[in-house]
Amino acid sequence: MTDQIFSSQVISRRWQLARFLSVLIEPSPAIIELPRRRRARMLSALLIITLLLAVISLFLTILDVNPIPKQVNENLVLIDLLAMLGLLGSYGLSRTRFSGAAAIITVVVILLAVFMAVFANPGVGMVLPYITLGVLMGGMFLPPRTTILIFVITVTIISALPLAIPGYPVSDLFVAGFFVLIVSAVVVLGTTLNSLDLEQIEAQSGALLEREASLQEAVQKAQDANRELSSRVNELKQLSAEVSLLSKMSQMLQACQNDAEAKAVIGQFAPQLFPATTGAVYLINASRTYIESIAAWGEASAPLSERIFGPNECWALRRGRAHLVQDQASDLACQHVETNARAAFPSLCVPLMAQGEALGLLHLESEQVSVSLTESQQLLAQSVSEDLSLALANLKLRETLRHQSIRDPLTGLFNRRYFEETFDRELQRAVRNQSALGVIMIDIDFFKRFNDSLGHQAGDVLLHELGTFLRTHIRATDVASRFGGEEFVLLLPETSLGLSVELAEELREGVAALRVPFRGQLLGPVTISVGIAAFPDHGMDIETLLNLAYSALYRAKQEGRNCLMTAYR
Ligand code: GH3
Ligand code: MG
Ligand code: MG
Repeated sequence: MTDQIFSSQVISRRWQLARFLSVLIEPSPAIIELPRRRRARMLSALLIITLLLAVISLFLTILDVNPIPKQVNENLVLIDLLAMLGLLGSYGLSRTRFSGAAAIITVVVILLAVFMAVFANPGVGMVLPYITLGVLMGGMFLPPRTTILIFVITVTIISALPLAIPGYPVSDLFVAGFFVLIVSAVVVLGTTLNSLDLEQIEAQSGALLEREASLQEAVQKAQDANRELSSRVNELKQLSAEVSLLSKMSQMLQACQNDAEAKAVIGQFAPQLFPATTGAVYLINASRTYIESIAAWGEASAPLSERIFGPNECWALRRGRAHLVQDQASDLACQHVETNARAAFPSLCVPLMAQGEALGLLHLESEQVSVSLTESQQLLAQSVSEDLSLALANLKLRETLRHQSIRDPLTGLFNRRYFEETFDRELQRAVRNQSALGVIMIDIDFFKRFNDSLGHQAGDVLLHELGTFLRTHIRATDVASRFGGEEFVLLLPETSLGLSVELAEELREGVAALRVPFRGQLLGPVTISVGIAAFPDHGMDIETLLNLAYSALYRAKQEGRNCLMTAYR
């Protein structure tokens, strides 16, 4: 334990020294290559040693260790001072990016010092610069251990040299030995600490680099994860917005009572559901002969909403399943898309299917030719098409039931119950608006006879055609009903008695001219008798008006049929 503490103390002291030396010899951070850095550091270390030597040499000279003349000592002091200045400058340079220049200056300074020292004193002055020169050159370009080796050899040779000089003073030899010892110790210490320092720094920087790399990797991973997370969050946000829009649209569609309302709802929601697309919703007509747009959206929606095409021109309608064209080169485009100016754009057709029957089509086109329709857009189109199909099927069913409840199946005209309800409503409106209301009662002449001679079926066909005739010869606001058997009643809002008579006459003439094809022959002619009453001319309530119209009809029959009579006031 104590040993450990002791050794750790020694190590920490060594480290403090190493750190101090590192501060002294650390080159400029601008030198980033490791070999150059090492050379600069070595050069700085050697220059410090050389400076130290020069200081010692200066002191020895001043202390006059050598028994040499005073004049010569002064020269040596001067040489030492100049050399120290030069070396100090070099040391300063060696820590900058100009370590090469520092080495050159050092060499020059040392050579000059040698040159001058040789003239001043052939002893100490000659030995020291050579030692430092050798170490310097080795240290600059070689690794620390080789430097030490070169230093030892150089020192040994140079130390031995004076022995060969006859009459060399013994005291100089001691001084030389002393220098050699000090320099050896300092160089060994310097290089060891330096190498230790270098190894440590390299190891530390290696570990730091590794940590930095792993940190960067971790940061990169975190950034990637973050990016993915935020894109997921965005996707989820978009999905939730789509789901809420979709559910809102479904609720609205379910509350729709007719096609017009459904069209308005689709026109409102579809552009919000598919914002980056151009598209349309199409409906197939009742006889399934053509398909036309009920809502369109997007930049180039005009051609989509204008186009009417056959159900056979769409692959999705033909196959009863979605048809996606991302690339026209590899996917087969529908005929209704091919004729479009944007034929090359990615497109998707989804049929609106209900109970195996196609009711319409949801069509989407990308806004840009190079941008495919995304998977989420395709999924959304599928969901939207399911909702639309359900809503449209419900509407269709509702319409059928309503039709059945108020229409007479044979003639396609309204039934008597609907007529009575409408009559009540229209009469009230006429009273409120102080407008006229015409009532026309029609009965086919000798229809029993017609049935008897041509058959009941022919009679049915004639009734059907007469229904169509009446429906197509009145205004949209007029109401044509089958009152019973072969009797019909027309309700004409905002129509005066005079106009009602004119219409009745037109109808009478038209029916007389009617020819109905039946089993290869033409049925007819048939004639009708007509009784006319009007509000406010003949009465203020339904009963009176109906009775008066009926009486007028009866009179028409009595007058010989195929004519019209107006009610008495
Ligand atoms: P008129 O009105 O001119 O006095 O003679 P009519 O023969 O039309 O007289 P009537 O009102 O007595 O006869 C009505 C006939 O209409 C009786 C019936 O055979 C026929 N009829 C009523 N409803 C239908 C139907 O739904 N189909 C067919 N084919 N005939 C019907
Ligand atoms: Mg009749
Ligand atoms: Mg009748």
